[in-house]
Amino acid sequence: MTRTVNSVCSYCGTGCGIRLETDGQRIISLSGNEQHPTNQGKLCSKGRELHHTVRTKDRFLRPQLRTSLQAPFAPVDWDTALHHSAQKFADIIQQHGPDAVAFYVSGQLLTEDYYVFNKLMKGFIGSNNIDTNSRLCMSSAVMGYKRAFGADGPPTCYDDIEKAGCYLIAGANPAYAHPILFRRMEAAKEANPDLKIIVTDPRRTDTCSIADLHLALKPGTDVPLFQAMLNVMLWEDLLDNNYIEQHTQGFDAMLENIQSMTPRKAADICGIDTADIVKAALWFAENKTLSFWTMGLNQSTSGSDKNNALINLHLATGQVGKEGCGPFSLTGQPNAMGGREVGGLANMLAAHRDYHNPEHRKEVADYWGVDDVPCKPGLTATELFSALEEGTVKAVWIACTNPIVSMPDAKRAEAALKKAELVVVSDAYHPTDTTKFAHVLFPASGWAEKEGTITNTERRITHLQQAIPKAGVSKDDWKIVTDFAVCLGEKLGKDWSQAFAYKTAGDVFDEHCGLTKGVDIDISGLSYAVLDEYGAQQWPFKKGDKPNQVKRLYTDHVYETADKKAHFVDVDYIPVAEPTDDEYPISLTTGRIRDQWHTMTKSGAVPQLMQHVSMPTLQIHPDDAAEYGIEDEALVAIDSRRGRVIAPAQISKDIRSGLVFLPMHWGKMTAQAGRANDLIQTAIDPHSKEPEFKHAAVKIQPFKAAWHGMMLMAGDKVKLGREMIAGYSYGVLFCAGTDHPVTSIDLACTKTLKDTQYKRLDQMLEQGQSFETLTYSDRKHGINRKAWLDDGRLVAVRWVGGDISEAKWLRKLMLEGRDVGELRPYLLAPGGPVDKQDTKGKIICACNNVGELELQAAIEAGSNTIEKLKGCTMAGTGCGSCVPEMKRLLSK
Ligand code: SF4
Repeated sequence: MTRTVNSVCSYCGTGCGIRLETDGQRIISLSGNEQHPTNQGKLCSKGRELHHTVRTKDRFLRPQLRTSLQAPFAPVDWDTALHHSAQKFADIIQQHGPDAVAFYVSGQLLTEDYYVFNKLMKGFIGSNNIDTNSRLCMSSAVMGYKRAFGADGPPTCYDDIEKAGCYLIAGANPAYAHPILFRRMEAAKEANPDLKIIVTDPRRTDTCSIADLHLALKPGTDVPLFQAMLNVMLWEDLLDNNYIEQHTQGFDAMLENIQSMTPRKAADICGIDTADIVKAALWFAENKTLSFWTMGLNQSTSGSDKNNALINLHLATGQVGKEGCGPFSLTGQPNAMGGREVGGLANMLAAHRDYHNPEHRKEVADYWGVDDVPCKPGLTATELFSALEEGTVKAVWIACTNPIVSMPDAKRAEAALKKAELVVVSDAYHPTDTTKFAHVLFPASGWAEKEGTITNTERRITHLQQAIPKAGVSKDDWKIVTDFAVCLGEKLGKDWSQAFAYKTAGDVFDEHCGLTKGVDIDISGLSYAVLDEYGAQQWPFKKGDKPNQVKRLYTDHVYETADKKAHFVDVDYIPVAEPTDDEYPISLTTGRIRDQWHTMTKSGAVPQLMQHVSMPTLQIHPDDAAEYGIEDEALVAIDSRRGRVIAPAQISKDIRSGLVFLPMHWGKMTAQAGRANDLIQTAIDPHSKEPEFKHAAVKIQPFKAAWHGMMLMAGDKVKLGREMIAGYSYGVLFCAGTDHPVTSIDLACTKTLKDTQYKRLDQMLEQGQSFETLTYSDRKHGINRKAWLDDGRLVAVRWVGGDISEAKWLRKLMLEGRDVGELRPYLLAPGGPVDKQDTKGKIICACNNVGELELQAAIEAGSNTIEKLKGCTMAGTGCGSCVPEMKRLLSK
């Protein structure tokens, strides 16, 4: 007996609706929900494969405990794990006070989970020390909205995409990070070729495939660009003076700064043409303009100012609270917005209330039935890790996130966790880079195993229904927190059982909705029943509101500030922290790739998603490559003041000279030498406390390896776990994941391996399993290769020495799972058969497994439009995420 349940994609903040067909035990199929207003049935390459992340080999099934980081974990029951952790928390609180403990949570939690974490820390433990990984991605946007509008209220909606006359896409690559939204932008451009699209980004990303104007500005120079655009609008008399006068405050105070930033001056600072700045300003002011932005603005030491400089443009042209225009920050994580609603940041209170406002504190305290909630801000993400390192915070609970990969200066984050007396990690996966530093592990239910809500970028709340039973003895995060809270109360001699007496996720949601009554995000009219009957709804949704009543905020131009006006913010241009110099002459920026998400604990387990980009590569301009003697695909050592990363070069004119780019997804477990955040500084924005991930000063040089190697493993056959790869200590490892059906690991060692080391590697790989093996060894040329076959099919290859590119076809053989048959004698030999010629190249279309070489051949044979190319190769006919890359090939 099968049934269909509604869910929502748990990757990005687009928030696409999903339907899951289940037999009660397993997910049988996954499809886009055609009724969901966000995606109307479409899903991107990541969303389409989401069900493969549910029951991976590293799904974490029962609580575990150890007394020290050196000791092995031992499985325990829930009572033991909870009592042990609660006792330790209680001891620390009693001895050092409530600020000596902290929670570090995640924008991937459901709103209900977030709500109880926040309630326990702020209402009952008595500290504001709860921060979230959303601090690392959108706290500057929160600050921008709060300073401009008096509240964290994104005013726009997705329907504005079709109604706008101009897009300004600033420091964002939605083609990769928000693909379904990007599909909608592409369709809008196709339907209305007059739609002007401006992209500001130091790199020419796939988002530029729809751009009319690409401003490849230098990192960190967004403020002068926006100021100069406003100067042009002022000069050309394009401002909405009525709007400025009636609905805003602070315009005159910023005029001096604006008028002094001439387009020419800005062009010099930004490294772009004066004429392009003027053109962008005119397009913005003469059309209904919708601005999209993400990390390029937010992840910066002047992130809040960049946000406000952009919002200033909208206020000056009266483009807020109206159809087809407005500032629209795209949230990175699926429920970053839900976390903001419940106040899951160290400097916010629940339901958009402020910790420094005594009335707000009283409202929250009364609602929770406590005397007060703390009036001093808690520690934000980087402050929390510094406090752990200094020893002022002694215990931390990390929920549903992987800071050892995602925090800036990741080695410092490791050192901080090593210093802690207690690290509790609740997660659906283990091991991760972070669980290695834990004393206690709580198994959390995964997506599809739990019920709750998620709010997307346009403030739309979707109800996720539970599809399958929970794995092992895992529990929903909200349930783990409530059980822990009761236990902690007991240890502290208090009875908190009534305050955490929820029976279902719905009980938590109802309480959260009640607390929003009377504030800007009022959702007192919502319940699971309403969401199920009328579908996902945007906030606010007050008692008595009709479904789909509110699309946009501030349509009456009344704002949440004390004077009810929107505020211009006068900002100064502050150059990037850690400017380049003679020793570190190159600027490094980091970002995302199309088919991976965050630290790869989920997307890294899906083989289809490893095909597009299988390892971290360094994007570098040809001029810089020539200057530093770096060849395409050759290894490069990238050094900053904090650490070193080694990655193959990808030479491209799509990046400015003087700038290099590394993807941020890989950690030590997936690429031993490829963790980008080892290089990143901990400098933060003074207002939002968001770190600078978009610039670090680095130096680059060719990495001279004694030999190169590649390992391929079919993860379903060969039991080589992630832990073992991490423990694989000789040489430098590049890996593209380890646990999925086909994994590749590129090795580069500083010395030739000894026979004993080969043996150790092979033993780790075989682990008592018996396979047919083939070997090829040529000591003179440093070649030592071995292949493992199971029933005629390749399950693993160790490839050391000679031309590494010759080994790539083996990966395809493995992916296809075909009997190697007559190819057997040629598998490991140099040269090899003609058949090993790679006819696919890099996989561009993950849905239909179409490679770059196949597309190039089709173009050469006359498929000179996207439609012809789709028709002849089937590429781009699945989720469409590869269409920008196909366009790029066509334009070449
Ligand atoms: Fe998921 Fe892709 Fe939709 Fe984002 S755009 S929510 S990753 S399906």
